[in-house]
Amino acid sequence: MSFDSLGLSAEILRAVSDKGYTTPTPIQIQAIPLVLEGRDLMGGAQTGTGKTAGFTLPLLQRLMDTTKPQKGRRPLRCLILTPTRELAAQVHESVQTYGRHLPLKSAVVFGGVSINPQKMKLIKGLDILVATPGRLLDHVSQRSADLSKVDILVLDEADRMLDMGFIHDIKKVLALLPKEKQTLLFSATFSNDIKKLANNLLNNPALIEVAQINTTAERIKQVVHHVDKGRKRELLSFLIGSNNWKQVLVFTRTKHGANRLAEQLGKDGITSAAIHGNKSQGARTRALADFKAGKVRVLVATDIAARGIDIDQLPHVVNFELPNVAEDYVHRIGRTGRAGNEGEAMSLVCVDELKLLKDIERLTKSEIPKITTEGYEIDPSIKAEPIQNGRGGKQQPRRRNAGNNSGGRNTSARRSGGNKSSGDRSSGNKSESPWSKATGNKSRRNNNQNRAPSGNR
Ligand code: AMP
Repeated sequence: MSFDSLGLSAEILRAVSDKGYTTPTPIQIQAIPLVLEGRDLMGGAQTGTGKTAGFTLPLLQRLMDTTKPQKGRRPLRCLILTPTRELAAQVHESVQTYGRHLPLKSAVVFGGVSINPQKMKLIKGLDILVATPGRLLDHVSQRSADLSKVDILVLDEADRMLDMGFIHDIKKVLALLPKEKQTLLFSATFSNDIKKLANNLLNNPALIEVAQINTTAERIKQVVHHVDKGRKRELLSFLIGSNNWKQVLVFTRTKHGANRLAEQLGKDGITSAAIHGNKSQGARTRALADFKAGKVRVLVATDIAARGIDIDQLPHVVNFELPNVAEDYVHRIGRTGRAGNEGEAMSLVCVDELKLLKDIERLTKSEIPKITTEGYEIDPSIKAEPIQNGRGGKQQPRRRNAGNNSGGRNTSARRSGGNKSSGDRSSGNKSESPWSKATGNKSRRNNNQNRAPSGNR
């Protein structure tokens, strides 16, 4: 199958070929003809499947097909909503890339940067706008965006938009759009909330699914590395150094943790930058650009900041800490193994996280191989403690299935054995160590790694 038979114009095909794509991905084969027919779409697509081109290519075609000679400012005809700034910027980059030989105008708007330059672009008139919901509403309230002529709406990564609490903003935006329009909704997972949103929004949608939802891409080699919490950073430096990993995306659970880890890795001589919601948009963009350019070896990110990061051939993702929500694991490791490339995802798992690991294996319906590295063996006498989600153990206001998070209460009491957590219950005495269940006989030594240096830094 080639792109030529999908019904796209010569200009769009030229842009696709400029980009070096020769064969459409499965989601593109399914989505492109349906969007060209004008159908509403509900797309279940894993990250890295090529879904952005799957919706962008045909929507550019439709906009070209329906362009009317226009006097005065061109009306905004296509709105693409994304959950994060990074994803918005990347989707807009795709719109520009695939539309480079077309006379269509586009822009991207998101928060964290000055609103005025965005206003100028909007006021001049655009065909396509990529936006995060909050900033879009700012523009609506300041009258720089008029959504009344939108023909095509795309909700990208809809599950994440709901997870991030954007439902009210989305509803406000939907109320401003014409009733008659084509709507494309993409989501990696389909919770009941997503189904409800889709039911209200989509009109007889075509359903496309390119990989089983909630399963992890097969191209990604996954491994769990058991290690004690206090030695994770040391081990990470050791693995990066001894394996000579050049580009590693590392996930932490908290912004503070991301900062601290980037700093510590820097002290170990490994160039690192952190991105998270507290960093300015400028700092986030710079860190990502440096990482992509190879100037920074490690990018430490929180889940939300990393959403949508698209780096060609990113070889390594490391979960320094497992996410509280098992679905986030799928999103995280989907940053590697994209577009048919091989990738490796390693999770450093301490005793506190064994329940989270079980949740992930249940969700992905697969058992992840376990390894240890000589010199970094676990100490089975260390008891599980509740997982803290930030400074002072404040629980993040996020959502379903919050794992074994008990908000970090009574940590000291628990350390002294005075209080039982779910972790404590399963590690009440040594003979019932959670590790014996977690590692079993399946654990293997990380033989292809070097030995840990004696003295262990
Ligand atoms: P996405 O799932 O849209 O984030 O795309 C993942 C990656 O696949 C991006 O780096 C795209 O540039 C790349 N990509 C998209 N379509 C194709 C294609 N047909 N052939 C090769 N790479 C592609």
